[in-house]
Amino acid sequence: MKYIPIAKPIIEKEDIASVVSVLKSGNLASGQLVASFEKAFASYCGTKYAVSVSSGTTALHLALWSLGIGKGDEVITTPFTYIASVNAIHMVGATSIFCDIDADTFNLNPKKIEEKITKRTKAILVVDLFGLPYFVPEITELAKKYNLHIIEDAAQAHGASWKKTKTGNLGGVGCFSLYPTKNMVAGGGGVLTTNSKTVYEKCLLLRNNGHLHGSYNYQAFGLNYEMNEIAAALALAQLKKLDSRNAKRILHAQTLAKTLNGIKGFILPSSPLGYTHVYHQFTVRITKNAKLTRDTFMKKMQSNGIDCRVYYPKSLHLYPHIAALGYKKGDFPIAESITQEIVSVPIHPLVTDSELTYISTTITQLLS
Ligand SMILES: *Cc1c(COP(=O)(O)O)cnc(C)c1O
Repeated sequence: MKYIPIAKPIIEKEDIASVVSVLKSGNLASGQLVASFEKAFASYCGTKYAVSVSSGTTALHLALWSLGIGKGDEVITTPFTYIASVNAIHMVGATSIFCDIDADTFNLNPKKIEEKITKRTKAILVVDLFGLPYFVPEITELAKKYNLHIIEDAAQAHGASWKKTKTGNLGGVGCFSLYPTKNMVAGGGGVLTTNSKTVYEKCLLLRNNGHLHGSYNYQAFGLNYEMNEIAAALALAQLKKLDSRNAKRILHAQTLAKTLNGIKGFILPSSPLGYTHVYHQFTVRITKNAKLTRDTFMKKMQSNGIDCRVYYPKSLHLYPHIAALGYKKGDFPIAESITQEIVSVPIHPLVTDSELTYISTTITQLLS
């Protein structure tokens, strides 16, 4: 039977050749290719600097750490994200303050942020969920008004943009993941982007045990968050194809949106004017008015060979160890209800035209 996975890394000849050549060279530790990748990624995003690291999670930790955010500080963020965004806040000892999301975009609702700001607030950690940038002008204005840092979790949004400005360069410190399911991969790895020389120089020390690589002049406390040459070689090869692969995701999303418009109880993802969504996931909502429940719909899609997933099944404030920080059911009603309605369907670049038609006819048959 046909089986269409929700995500699959695209590894082509060039990717394999670049990794093999690193293996043959014997130079595996952070070196020339890491430096080239950082230069290329900064130039792609339009930022002055990029710092490669070992994962998206370590990029987020490094962002908060390099900004000096820690114990006693509050960071406002969304409860509807992958938990790494929140773990990074807890890693520096700061307090995560959740704020509800906007039902149409799934991103942090800027109208609900201001009431969460206190004297202790140091930053807003925004997430470009599923490939759509956060509400840029509204959140930038709030950050300016209250003198807050913006940390952008762009782990799912490489190459997305707002009015031609790319993620990673929208005003905050950008954090990207190169995990195997993301829009570009390195078999694991991450990268941080910034226009601040201070943040950049601090990151170089913090990510390498407190010294510049190979200098042994220890200047501060640090850890080892470095990227290796194998990952950098793969990331460089992937970066070259990022735009064409994102274009394919966008085309697939447009095709599905066109063919699936107007089904009762079925809500398509929305992308506000001025934003380029790169569809890391194509996430739809199956509401109470639909012919099937979300869970039945998902089971039927799966039995038809179409891999569907719920990203994410529960608002983060409802997990016991996070609820213990003082949250309860009902605190973030939009995030809570959205988790009961969402389902992501495959649209990655390896989905063929005939598979896309099969996905849309299957959805139409199941729901109309
Ligand atoms: C994948 C992801 C991360 C973490 O990245 P890793 O490379 O897996 O550590 C963080 N935030 C979001 C939103 C993600 O999707």
